[in-house]
This record gives sequence, C-alpha cells and structure tokens, in this order.
Amino acid sequence: MGTKIKSGSRIEIKTADAMYQGILMPRPELADDEHVIIKLDNGYNIGIRKKLIENITIIEETPSQERIELEKTKIDPQKQIVLKPSVSILATGGTIASRVDYITGGVRAAFTADELISAIPELDEIANIHGRQIFNKFSENIIPSDWIKIVKEIASEIKNGANGVVILHGTDTMGYTSAALAFMLKTPVPVVLTGAQRSSDRGSSDATLNLINSTWVAAHGNLGDICVVMHGEMSDSHALIHPATRVRKLHSSKRDAFQTVNSKPIGRVLNGKIEYLKEVKPRGGSLELDTKLEEKVALLRYYPGLKSEVIDNLINLGYKGIVIEGTGLGHTSERVFDAIKRAIDDQVSVVMTSQTIFGRVNMRVYSTGRRLLEMGVIPCENMLPETAYVKLMWVLGHTQDQEKVKEMMLRNYAGEIVKRTQTGNDDISLQ
Ligand code: GLU
Repeated sequence: MGTKIKSGSRIEIKTADAMYQGILMPRPELADDEHVIIKLDNGYNIGIRKKLIENITIIEETPSQERIELEKTKIDPQKQIVLKPSVSILATGGTIASRVDYITGGVRAAFTADELISAIPELDEIANIHGRQIFNKFSENIIPSDWIKIVKEIASEIKNGANGVVILHGTDTMGYTSAALAFMLKTPVPVVLTGAQRSSDRGSSDATLNLINSTWVAAHGNLGDICVVMHGEMSDSHALIHPATRVRKLHSSKRDAFQTVNSKPIGRVLNGKIEYLKEVKPRGGSLELDTKLEEKVALLRYYPGLKSEVIDNLINLGYKGIVIEGTGLGHTSERVFDAIKRAIDDQVSVVMTSQTIFGRVNMRVYSTGRRLLEMGVIPCENMLPETAYVKLMWVLGHTQDQEKVKEMMLRNYAGEIVKRTQTGNDDISLQ
C-alpha cells in the first residue's frame, strides 16, 4: 500500500467483502503494525488486517497544523469576537487515558492528552483545545500532594486564559480529588473532572461521550465551580454534572456509576445543551488557591470487632485527625469509647460520618451517640466520609485549635453540608 495517511483523516476502506468508513486512529504504541484502526461513526473502534485491504480512499484529510492554528484565531468580522472558547484538558491517567495492553491483557495508562484529542475530532468543534499530561497514574496511586499539583496546574491554565479546564482522572478516587479541589481552589471558570469506566479502545467505552460532554460544560457552562461530569445512565443519552463534594462512584463497572449523594446533580448535558437542575455559582469572581493540608489524618470505618489498639496506634503515630465512618446515625461500639476519649484528650480531632452514605448523622437519638458527642466527637451532618476526610485535612492545615476545628468542620465551604437531604440520580426524569 505504501500510502501515508495522517491520523484523524476520514477514510473509506474496501476489503473483499465489506466497506468501512471512519476516522483513521493513531497507532497505539502497543499495537502491532498489521492492522489499521478506524473509529466508525457509531463510536466503535475496529482494527482491519492490512492484508485484507483492497483499497483506501481519503474522504477528508485531517486539517493541517497551519489550518488548525488559523482556525483557532478565527474572528467573526461582524461581531469581532473569537468564535470558540479555549479549553485546557489536563490528563492525570486512569481508564480514560488507557488502553488494553495486548501483551498482558491488562489495561494500562498509555494515552497522552494529545492522542485523545486527535482521536475525538468532535472536540475541535466545541472549543480550541490545549492538552497536556500532568502525570500518569491510576487514581488508586494518587496521593494528597498530587491534588496540590493538579490545583496548581489548573490555576496556571486559567491564568493563561483558559475559559474552562477538564481533568482526565481515574474513576476510583475521583470523588476524593474533586472534593480536594473544591476546598483548595476558587475558580472563575468551570473545572470539570471526568473519567471512563471502560477504556477508550473498547466498543462499549464511555470515554468519548464523557470527554465530549465535559468539554462542552468547560467551554459553555455558566459555572464558576468544580464539578464531575460522567454518564447519566447506561445508554449514551445524557451526562450528569455532579457537585464536587457530593459525588460518589457507586458501582464498580457500570457506565452510570457516579451519583450525587444527598442532593441533586447540578445539571445534565444532552446533545450539546446544558440543563441546570439547581442554582449554581456562575462564571466570574477571582481565582484563589489555598493548598494547606495536614496529611496525618485517617479515615477509619467502624466494624463489629474493631479494637481500641487501632485507634491507639493512630494516636501513637502522631495522627492529628480521625474521620470515623460510623454505623447508622453515627455510632461505634462502646468498646472503643476509651480510645476515642484518649484521642480527643491528646488533641486529635475525631469527626463522625455514616457508612450508610445516604442520610445525615444524628448523634442525639441514642445514648451511644450522645456519649460520643459528650466526649467531643464532631458530627459531620450529611458529609460523605471521603469528603469529611479531605475537609479535615484542609481544616487541620489551617488550625489545630479544637474549638476552631469544630467550627470549621460544621461550616459549609463547598456544598459539603446541605440543609435538606435529597436523593441522588433517582429523582431525575428525562422527558
Ligand atoms: N483503577 C483505575 C483508576 O481509578 C482505573 C479505573 C478507572 O479509571 O475507571 O484510575
């Protein structure tokens, strides 16, 4: 064949028994060179063995770099405004930036932000895209100093003129990162975290739609806030925009795994239209960073049989805060009361959330809760345990005065405490 065709071009491939049309994909560095991979119009990627190809026709060449540059600065002569907003896509790793490793059969992080953008040409119609890889980690490997790095990278994109920022992130700990960003960053433009449950080279991947919908929100959303945009249901109909401190991955593999907990989603994105479901902080305001974190905080789930020695060890290791994921309305067995009391006497802040996830802690109903309150345990209202964990790190980064910690934990900074508890995705009906 010998023809050199630029990836991103629209081509037609003829084999002895079929004809395929689609976008020529860049060859992954792990793939063999015996196949041509194209993205069909239905979003599926297929590999066609080169030996079987009789003819390839170029239907539309990928625009050259010069043309792209010119388009980026295209001005409407009448209105004198730049036509497309500028969106920065920062990749941190995860499934959205992964593909199947055909050697091991596992999934490994291997897509760069630029590769993703060239694989999804629709992005160029939504905004002028700038893509960058800031690190490449599965999200289970992300640590608090990575949150700070992400915040600083977002800030530098906004200072350089981005009208919106999309963060590509593994889904496993996306809720922790979104909560961390919500406490550490005030933003005048939308900052959207997104990911994928299935890798981009799988037919059932949610990567393409999540990226398109996130980019849409970043480019056109009237939102000066941090949010998570992910598939809203099993089919490809719409994506939901979730508040950063109230979102949780509630299924290990389904495409609509993410839900807003104890509140309503911010809105939904459907065919390039954003429908808001509640009042939002609009674009504007200043860019502020506040990245002080105390890392010696533990998140401890209560379970029948938990022994005091676990809490004693945290005290001995110099931990400054413990978030307990208690049972029901916010309880632990009285067998660990002495250890909790020792922690509080040692100036360790102990806060209570519930492992029921939905609902609010209320530690005044049973004597167990009342006794914990008397000891000085701080009840975290309807905060998600992981949000309370991130918040306690942030609060202790600012003060270690117990009264002040309590006051800050009970004050709402980023939507983490809501007055009225509502259900998650369930009350969202699609017309
Ligand atoms: N466990 C990996 C992560 O969270 C892959 C899962 C995903 O991205 O959905 O980064």
